[in-house]
Amino acid sequence: MANLQLKAIKKSYDNVNVIHGIDLEIKDGEFVVFVGPSGCGKSTLLRMIAGLEEITQGHLLVDGVDMTHQPATERGIAMVFQSYALYPNMTVRGNLSYPLEVSKRPKAEIKQRVELTAQKLHLNELLDRMPRALSGGQRQRVAIGRAIIREPRIFLFDEPLSNLDAELRLEMRIEIAKLHESLGNTMIYVTHDQLEAMTLADRMVVLRQGVIEQVGAPLALYHNPDNMFVAGFIGSPRINFMAADVVATTVGQVQLRIEELAIDSLIMTVQQRLNEGEKVWLGVRPEHFVSADGADCHFSSTLTFAEHLGHTNYLYVDYDQEKTLVIEQRELEKHTNGDSVTFGINAQQSLLFAQSGERIR
Ligand code: ADP
Repeated sequence: MANLQLKAIKKSYDNVNVIHGIDLEIKDGEFVVFVGPSGCGKSTLLRMIAGLEEITQGHLLVDGVDMTHQPATERGIAMVFQSYALYPNMTVRGNLSYPLEVSKRPKAEIKQRVELTAQKLHLNELLDRMPRALSGGQRQRVAIGRAIIREPRIFLFDEPLSNLDAELRLEMRIEIAKLHESLGNTMIYVTHDQLEAMTLADRMVVLRQGVIEQVGAPLALYHNPDNMFVAGFIGSPRINFMAADVVATTVGQVQLRIEELAIDSLIMTVQQRLNEGEKVWLGVRPEHFVSADGADCHFSSTLTFAEHLGHTNYLYVDYDQEKTLVIEQRELEKHTNGDSVTFGINAQQSLLFAQSGERIR
């Protein structure tokens, strides 16, 4: 087990900066997920921690010891890859025991540790099989086993479930969560899948273009995003953003007009000072639209499409020519495409953002 400090870490490839100065502290035993769109630098950051990629600038400390320029083998870190990276000519037993053989552990110890690891990951029946005779999920379990058996201080996972189908992903996600619970090691996990991130993470690190946008517990990011990027990245279907004008301000309050929905007045509580005439963005998650009765304001618009998923329904509602709102409605009411529907918005469940995308609180 170990804690990790990233201090002003930068990475460039041929003078192109891809990581712009990351400061982050990961506590002993924490499960941290790096999440963000493709190309934002998640894998590069993970590979720098692993020692597979040189750190251009900044420092990496493990338990307070500077590891910035230590080789991968000296860091006490094990990594599990999306591609499994198993040795194709070795059995499962061979794949598991190989790291211990390399470090010249006694035979009896190797045997015992292979069996213990196989037990943890339900691989006992598969020890004599070759990787090609395993399913994707089983291969990934062997890859995880090969990481565990070395008893590393820190586990790194680089999109480990991306090659699995939806059902297996869910199953393995639960297994990885349980593994973290039983081992208690520090784990860092990279994914572009916000659902995976939300369910596994103690803390999520949301990255965009090589910088950290926000760090926090999954629900804290969901309820209290710092900017439109984080609000938009977390939550599925995505949060709706509507253009709004500040029409009046008093101490601690603003009155908004949302022209496109013909809403004249939505009063929101804010600490920040805004100016009359200022343009802002109102963010409302699909699940936060309510029935018009008793809501702070309401609007009517045209239903263009409805998805009925059994446990919930998503309504697509057109407004102002080409814009569409996604509204979640738990209780199914019979609507036909083209119907006019009416929904309410409550200030308390809405988020406000400046033109720059920063949250207004
Ligand atoms: P992610 O894992 O978030 O998809 P990556 O860490 O793979 O993103 O990539 C971050 C950025 O660094 C991308 O713009 C990518 O093109 C660039 N990059 C990654 N590896 C290399 C490399 N070996 N040489 C040059 N550019 C690279």
